Amino acid sequence: MRRLLVAGNWKMHGDVTMTTELVEGVAAKVVSMSEGKDLSYEVLVCPPSIYLSKAVDVAGRALSEIKVGAQNVSEHSHGAYTGEISLPMLSEIGCGYVLLGHSERRQYYGETNESVAKKFAACTAFGDVVPVLCVGESLAEREAGLTEQVVENQIQAVLDLVGIEGFGKKYLQNTKNAVIAYEPVWAIGTGKTATPEQAQEVHAFIREMLASLDRGIADSTQILYGGSVKPSNALELFAQKDIDGGLIGGASLEIESFSEICKAAQKLAES
Ligand code: PEP
Repeated sequence: MRRLLVAGNWKMHGDVTMTTELVEGVAAKVVSMSEGKDLSYEVLVCPPSIYLSKAVDVAGRALSEIKVGAQNVSEHSHGAYTGEISLPMLSEIGCGYVLLGHSERRQYYGETNESVAKKFAACTAFGDVVPVLCVGESLAEREAGLTEQVVENQIQAVLDLVGIEGFGKKYLQNTKNAVIAYEPVWAIGTGKTATPEQAQEVHAFIREMLASLDRGIADSTQILYGGSVKPSNALELFAQKDIDGGLIGGASLEIESFSEICKAAQKLAES
C-alpha cells in the first residue's frame, strides 16, 4: 500500500525566520489535524540548501515525521566542484530526500536527461538520500502529442543507468523506493492545473512503464503530481488511482495552504 506524500518545493524563497515559522507552523497544524494518531501520510519540505540544517533542526524538535529534502545535488561525492553540494553532505545534516531534474533546473541550468540520470545513479549508489525524479512535458510537447514520449525518455535515461532496481527499496536503509514527480511544465507556477483525468492518464502510463519491468516496484513507487496544486484541487487530484500526493511550489510557502493540502492527504488516507 502506497502512502500519500505531500512535498513542498520552496524554490529560492524564504529566510531563517520563515524556515522556522513555516516548519513549526505546518508541524503544529499536522499534529492538531491528526488528533494524536500516527501520521497516515508523509510530509516533506525542500527549502533552499542554505536553510536545510535549520529546517532539519526545527522539524526534529517540532515533528520528526516532517522530512527535509534538497532541491538539487552533485553527482560527485566530493572534490573540486565549486558551488556544489554532495550526497554525503546532505545525509550528514539529516536531509533524506533530493529533488532531481526539476523543470526549472532543466530549463535554466542546462540539466539534461543524462545529467539528471547521473545524479539519480549517485543516489542509488549512496543509498541514504531518496531521489525524487521530476519529469514532465512542455506545452508545445503536449500539443504535439509527445507527452508520453517525453516522460518515457526522461525515465528511460535513469533506467539505462540504474535499472528498475534503482526505483526499488534502495534508500534509507533499504526502506524507501525512489519517488517520481510528474510535473507538466505548463502547469508549474502558472495557475493552470492538469485536470485529474489528464494527470491520472500520465501517472498510469508511468506506472505501467515501471510495471513492464517489475510489477512490485511499480506498485510501491510513489508518483506525485506537481503543477499549481492548491487546497481547492488537492483532494480531487490525490484521489486518482495512480496519484500518490503532490509536489507543491507556491502553495507550500504558506502554513495555511500547505496544511490544507496535507489535510486533503489525511482525509484520503483515512477514507
Ligand atoms: C514546483 O515547483 O514543482 C511546482 C509544482 O510549483 P507550483 O505548485 O507553484 O506550480
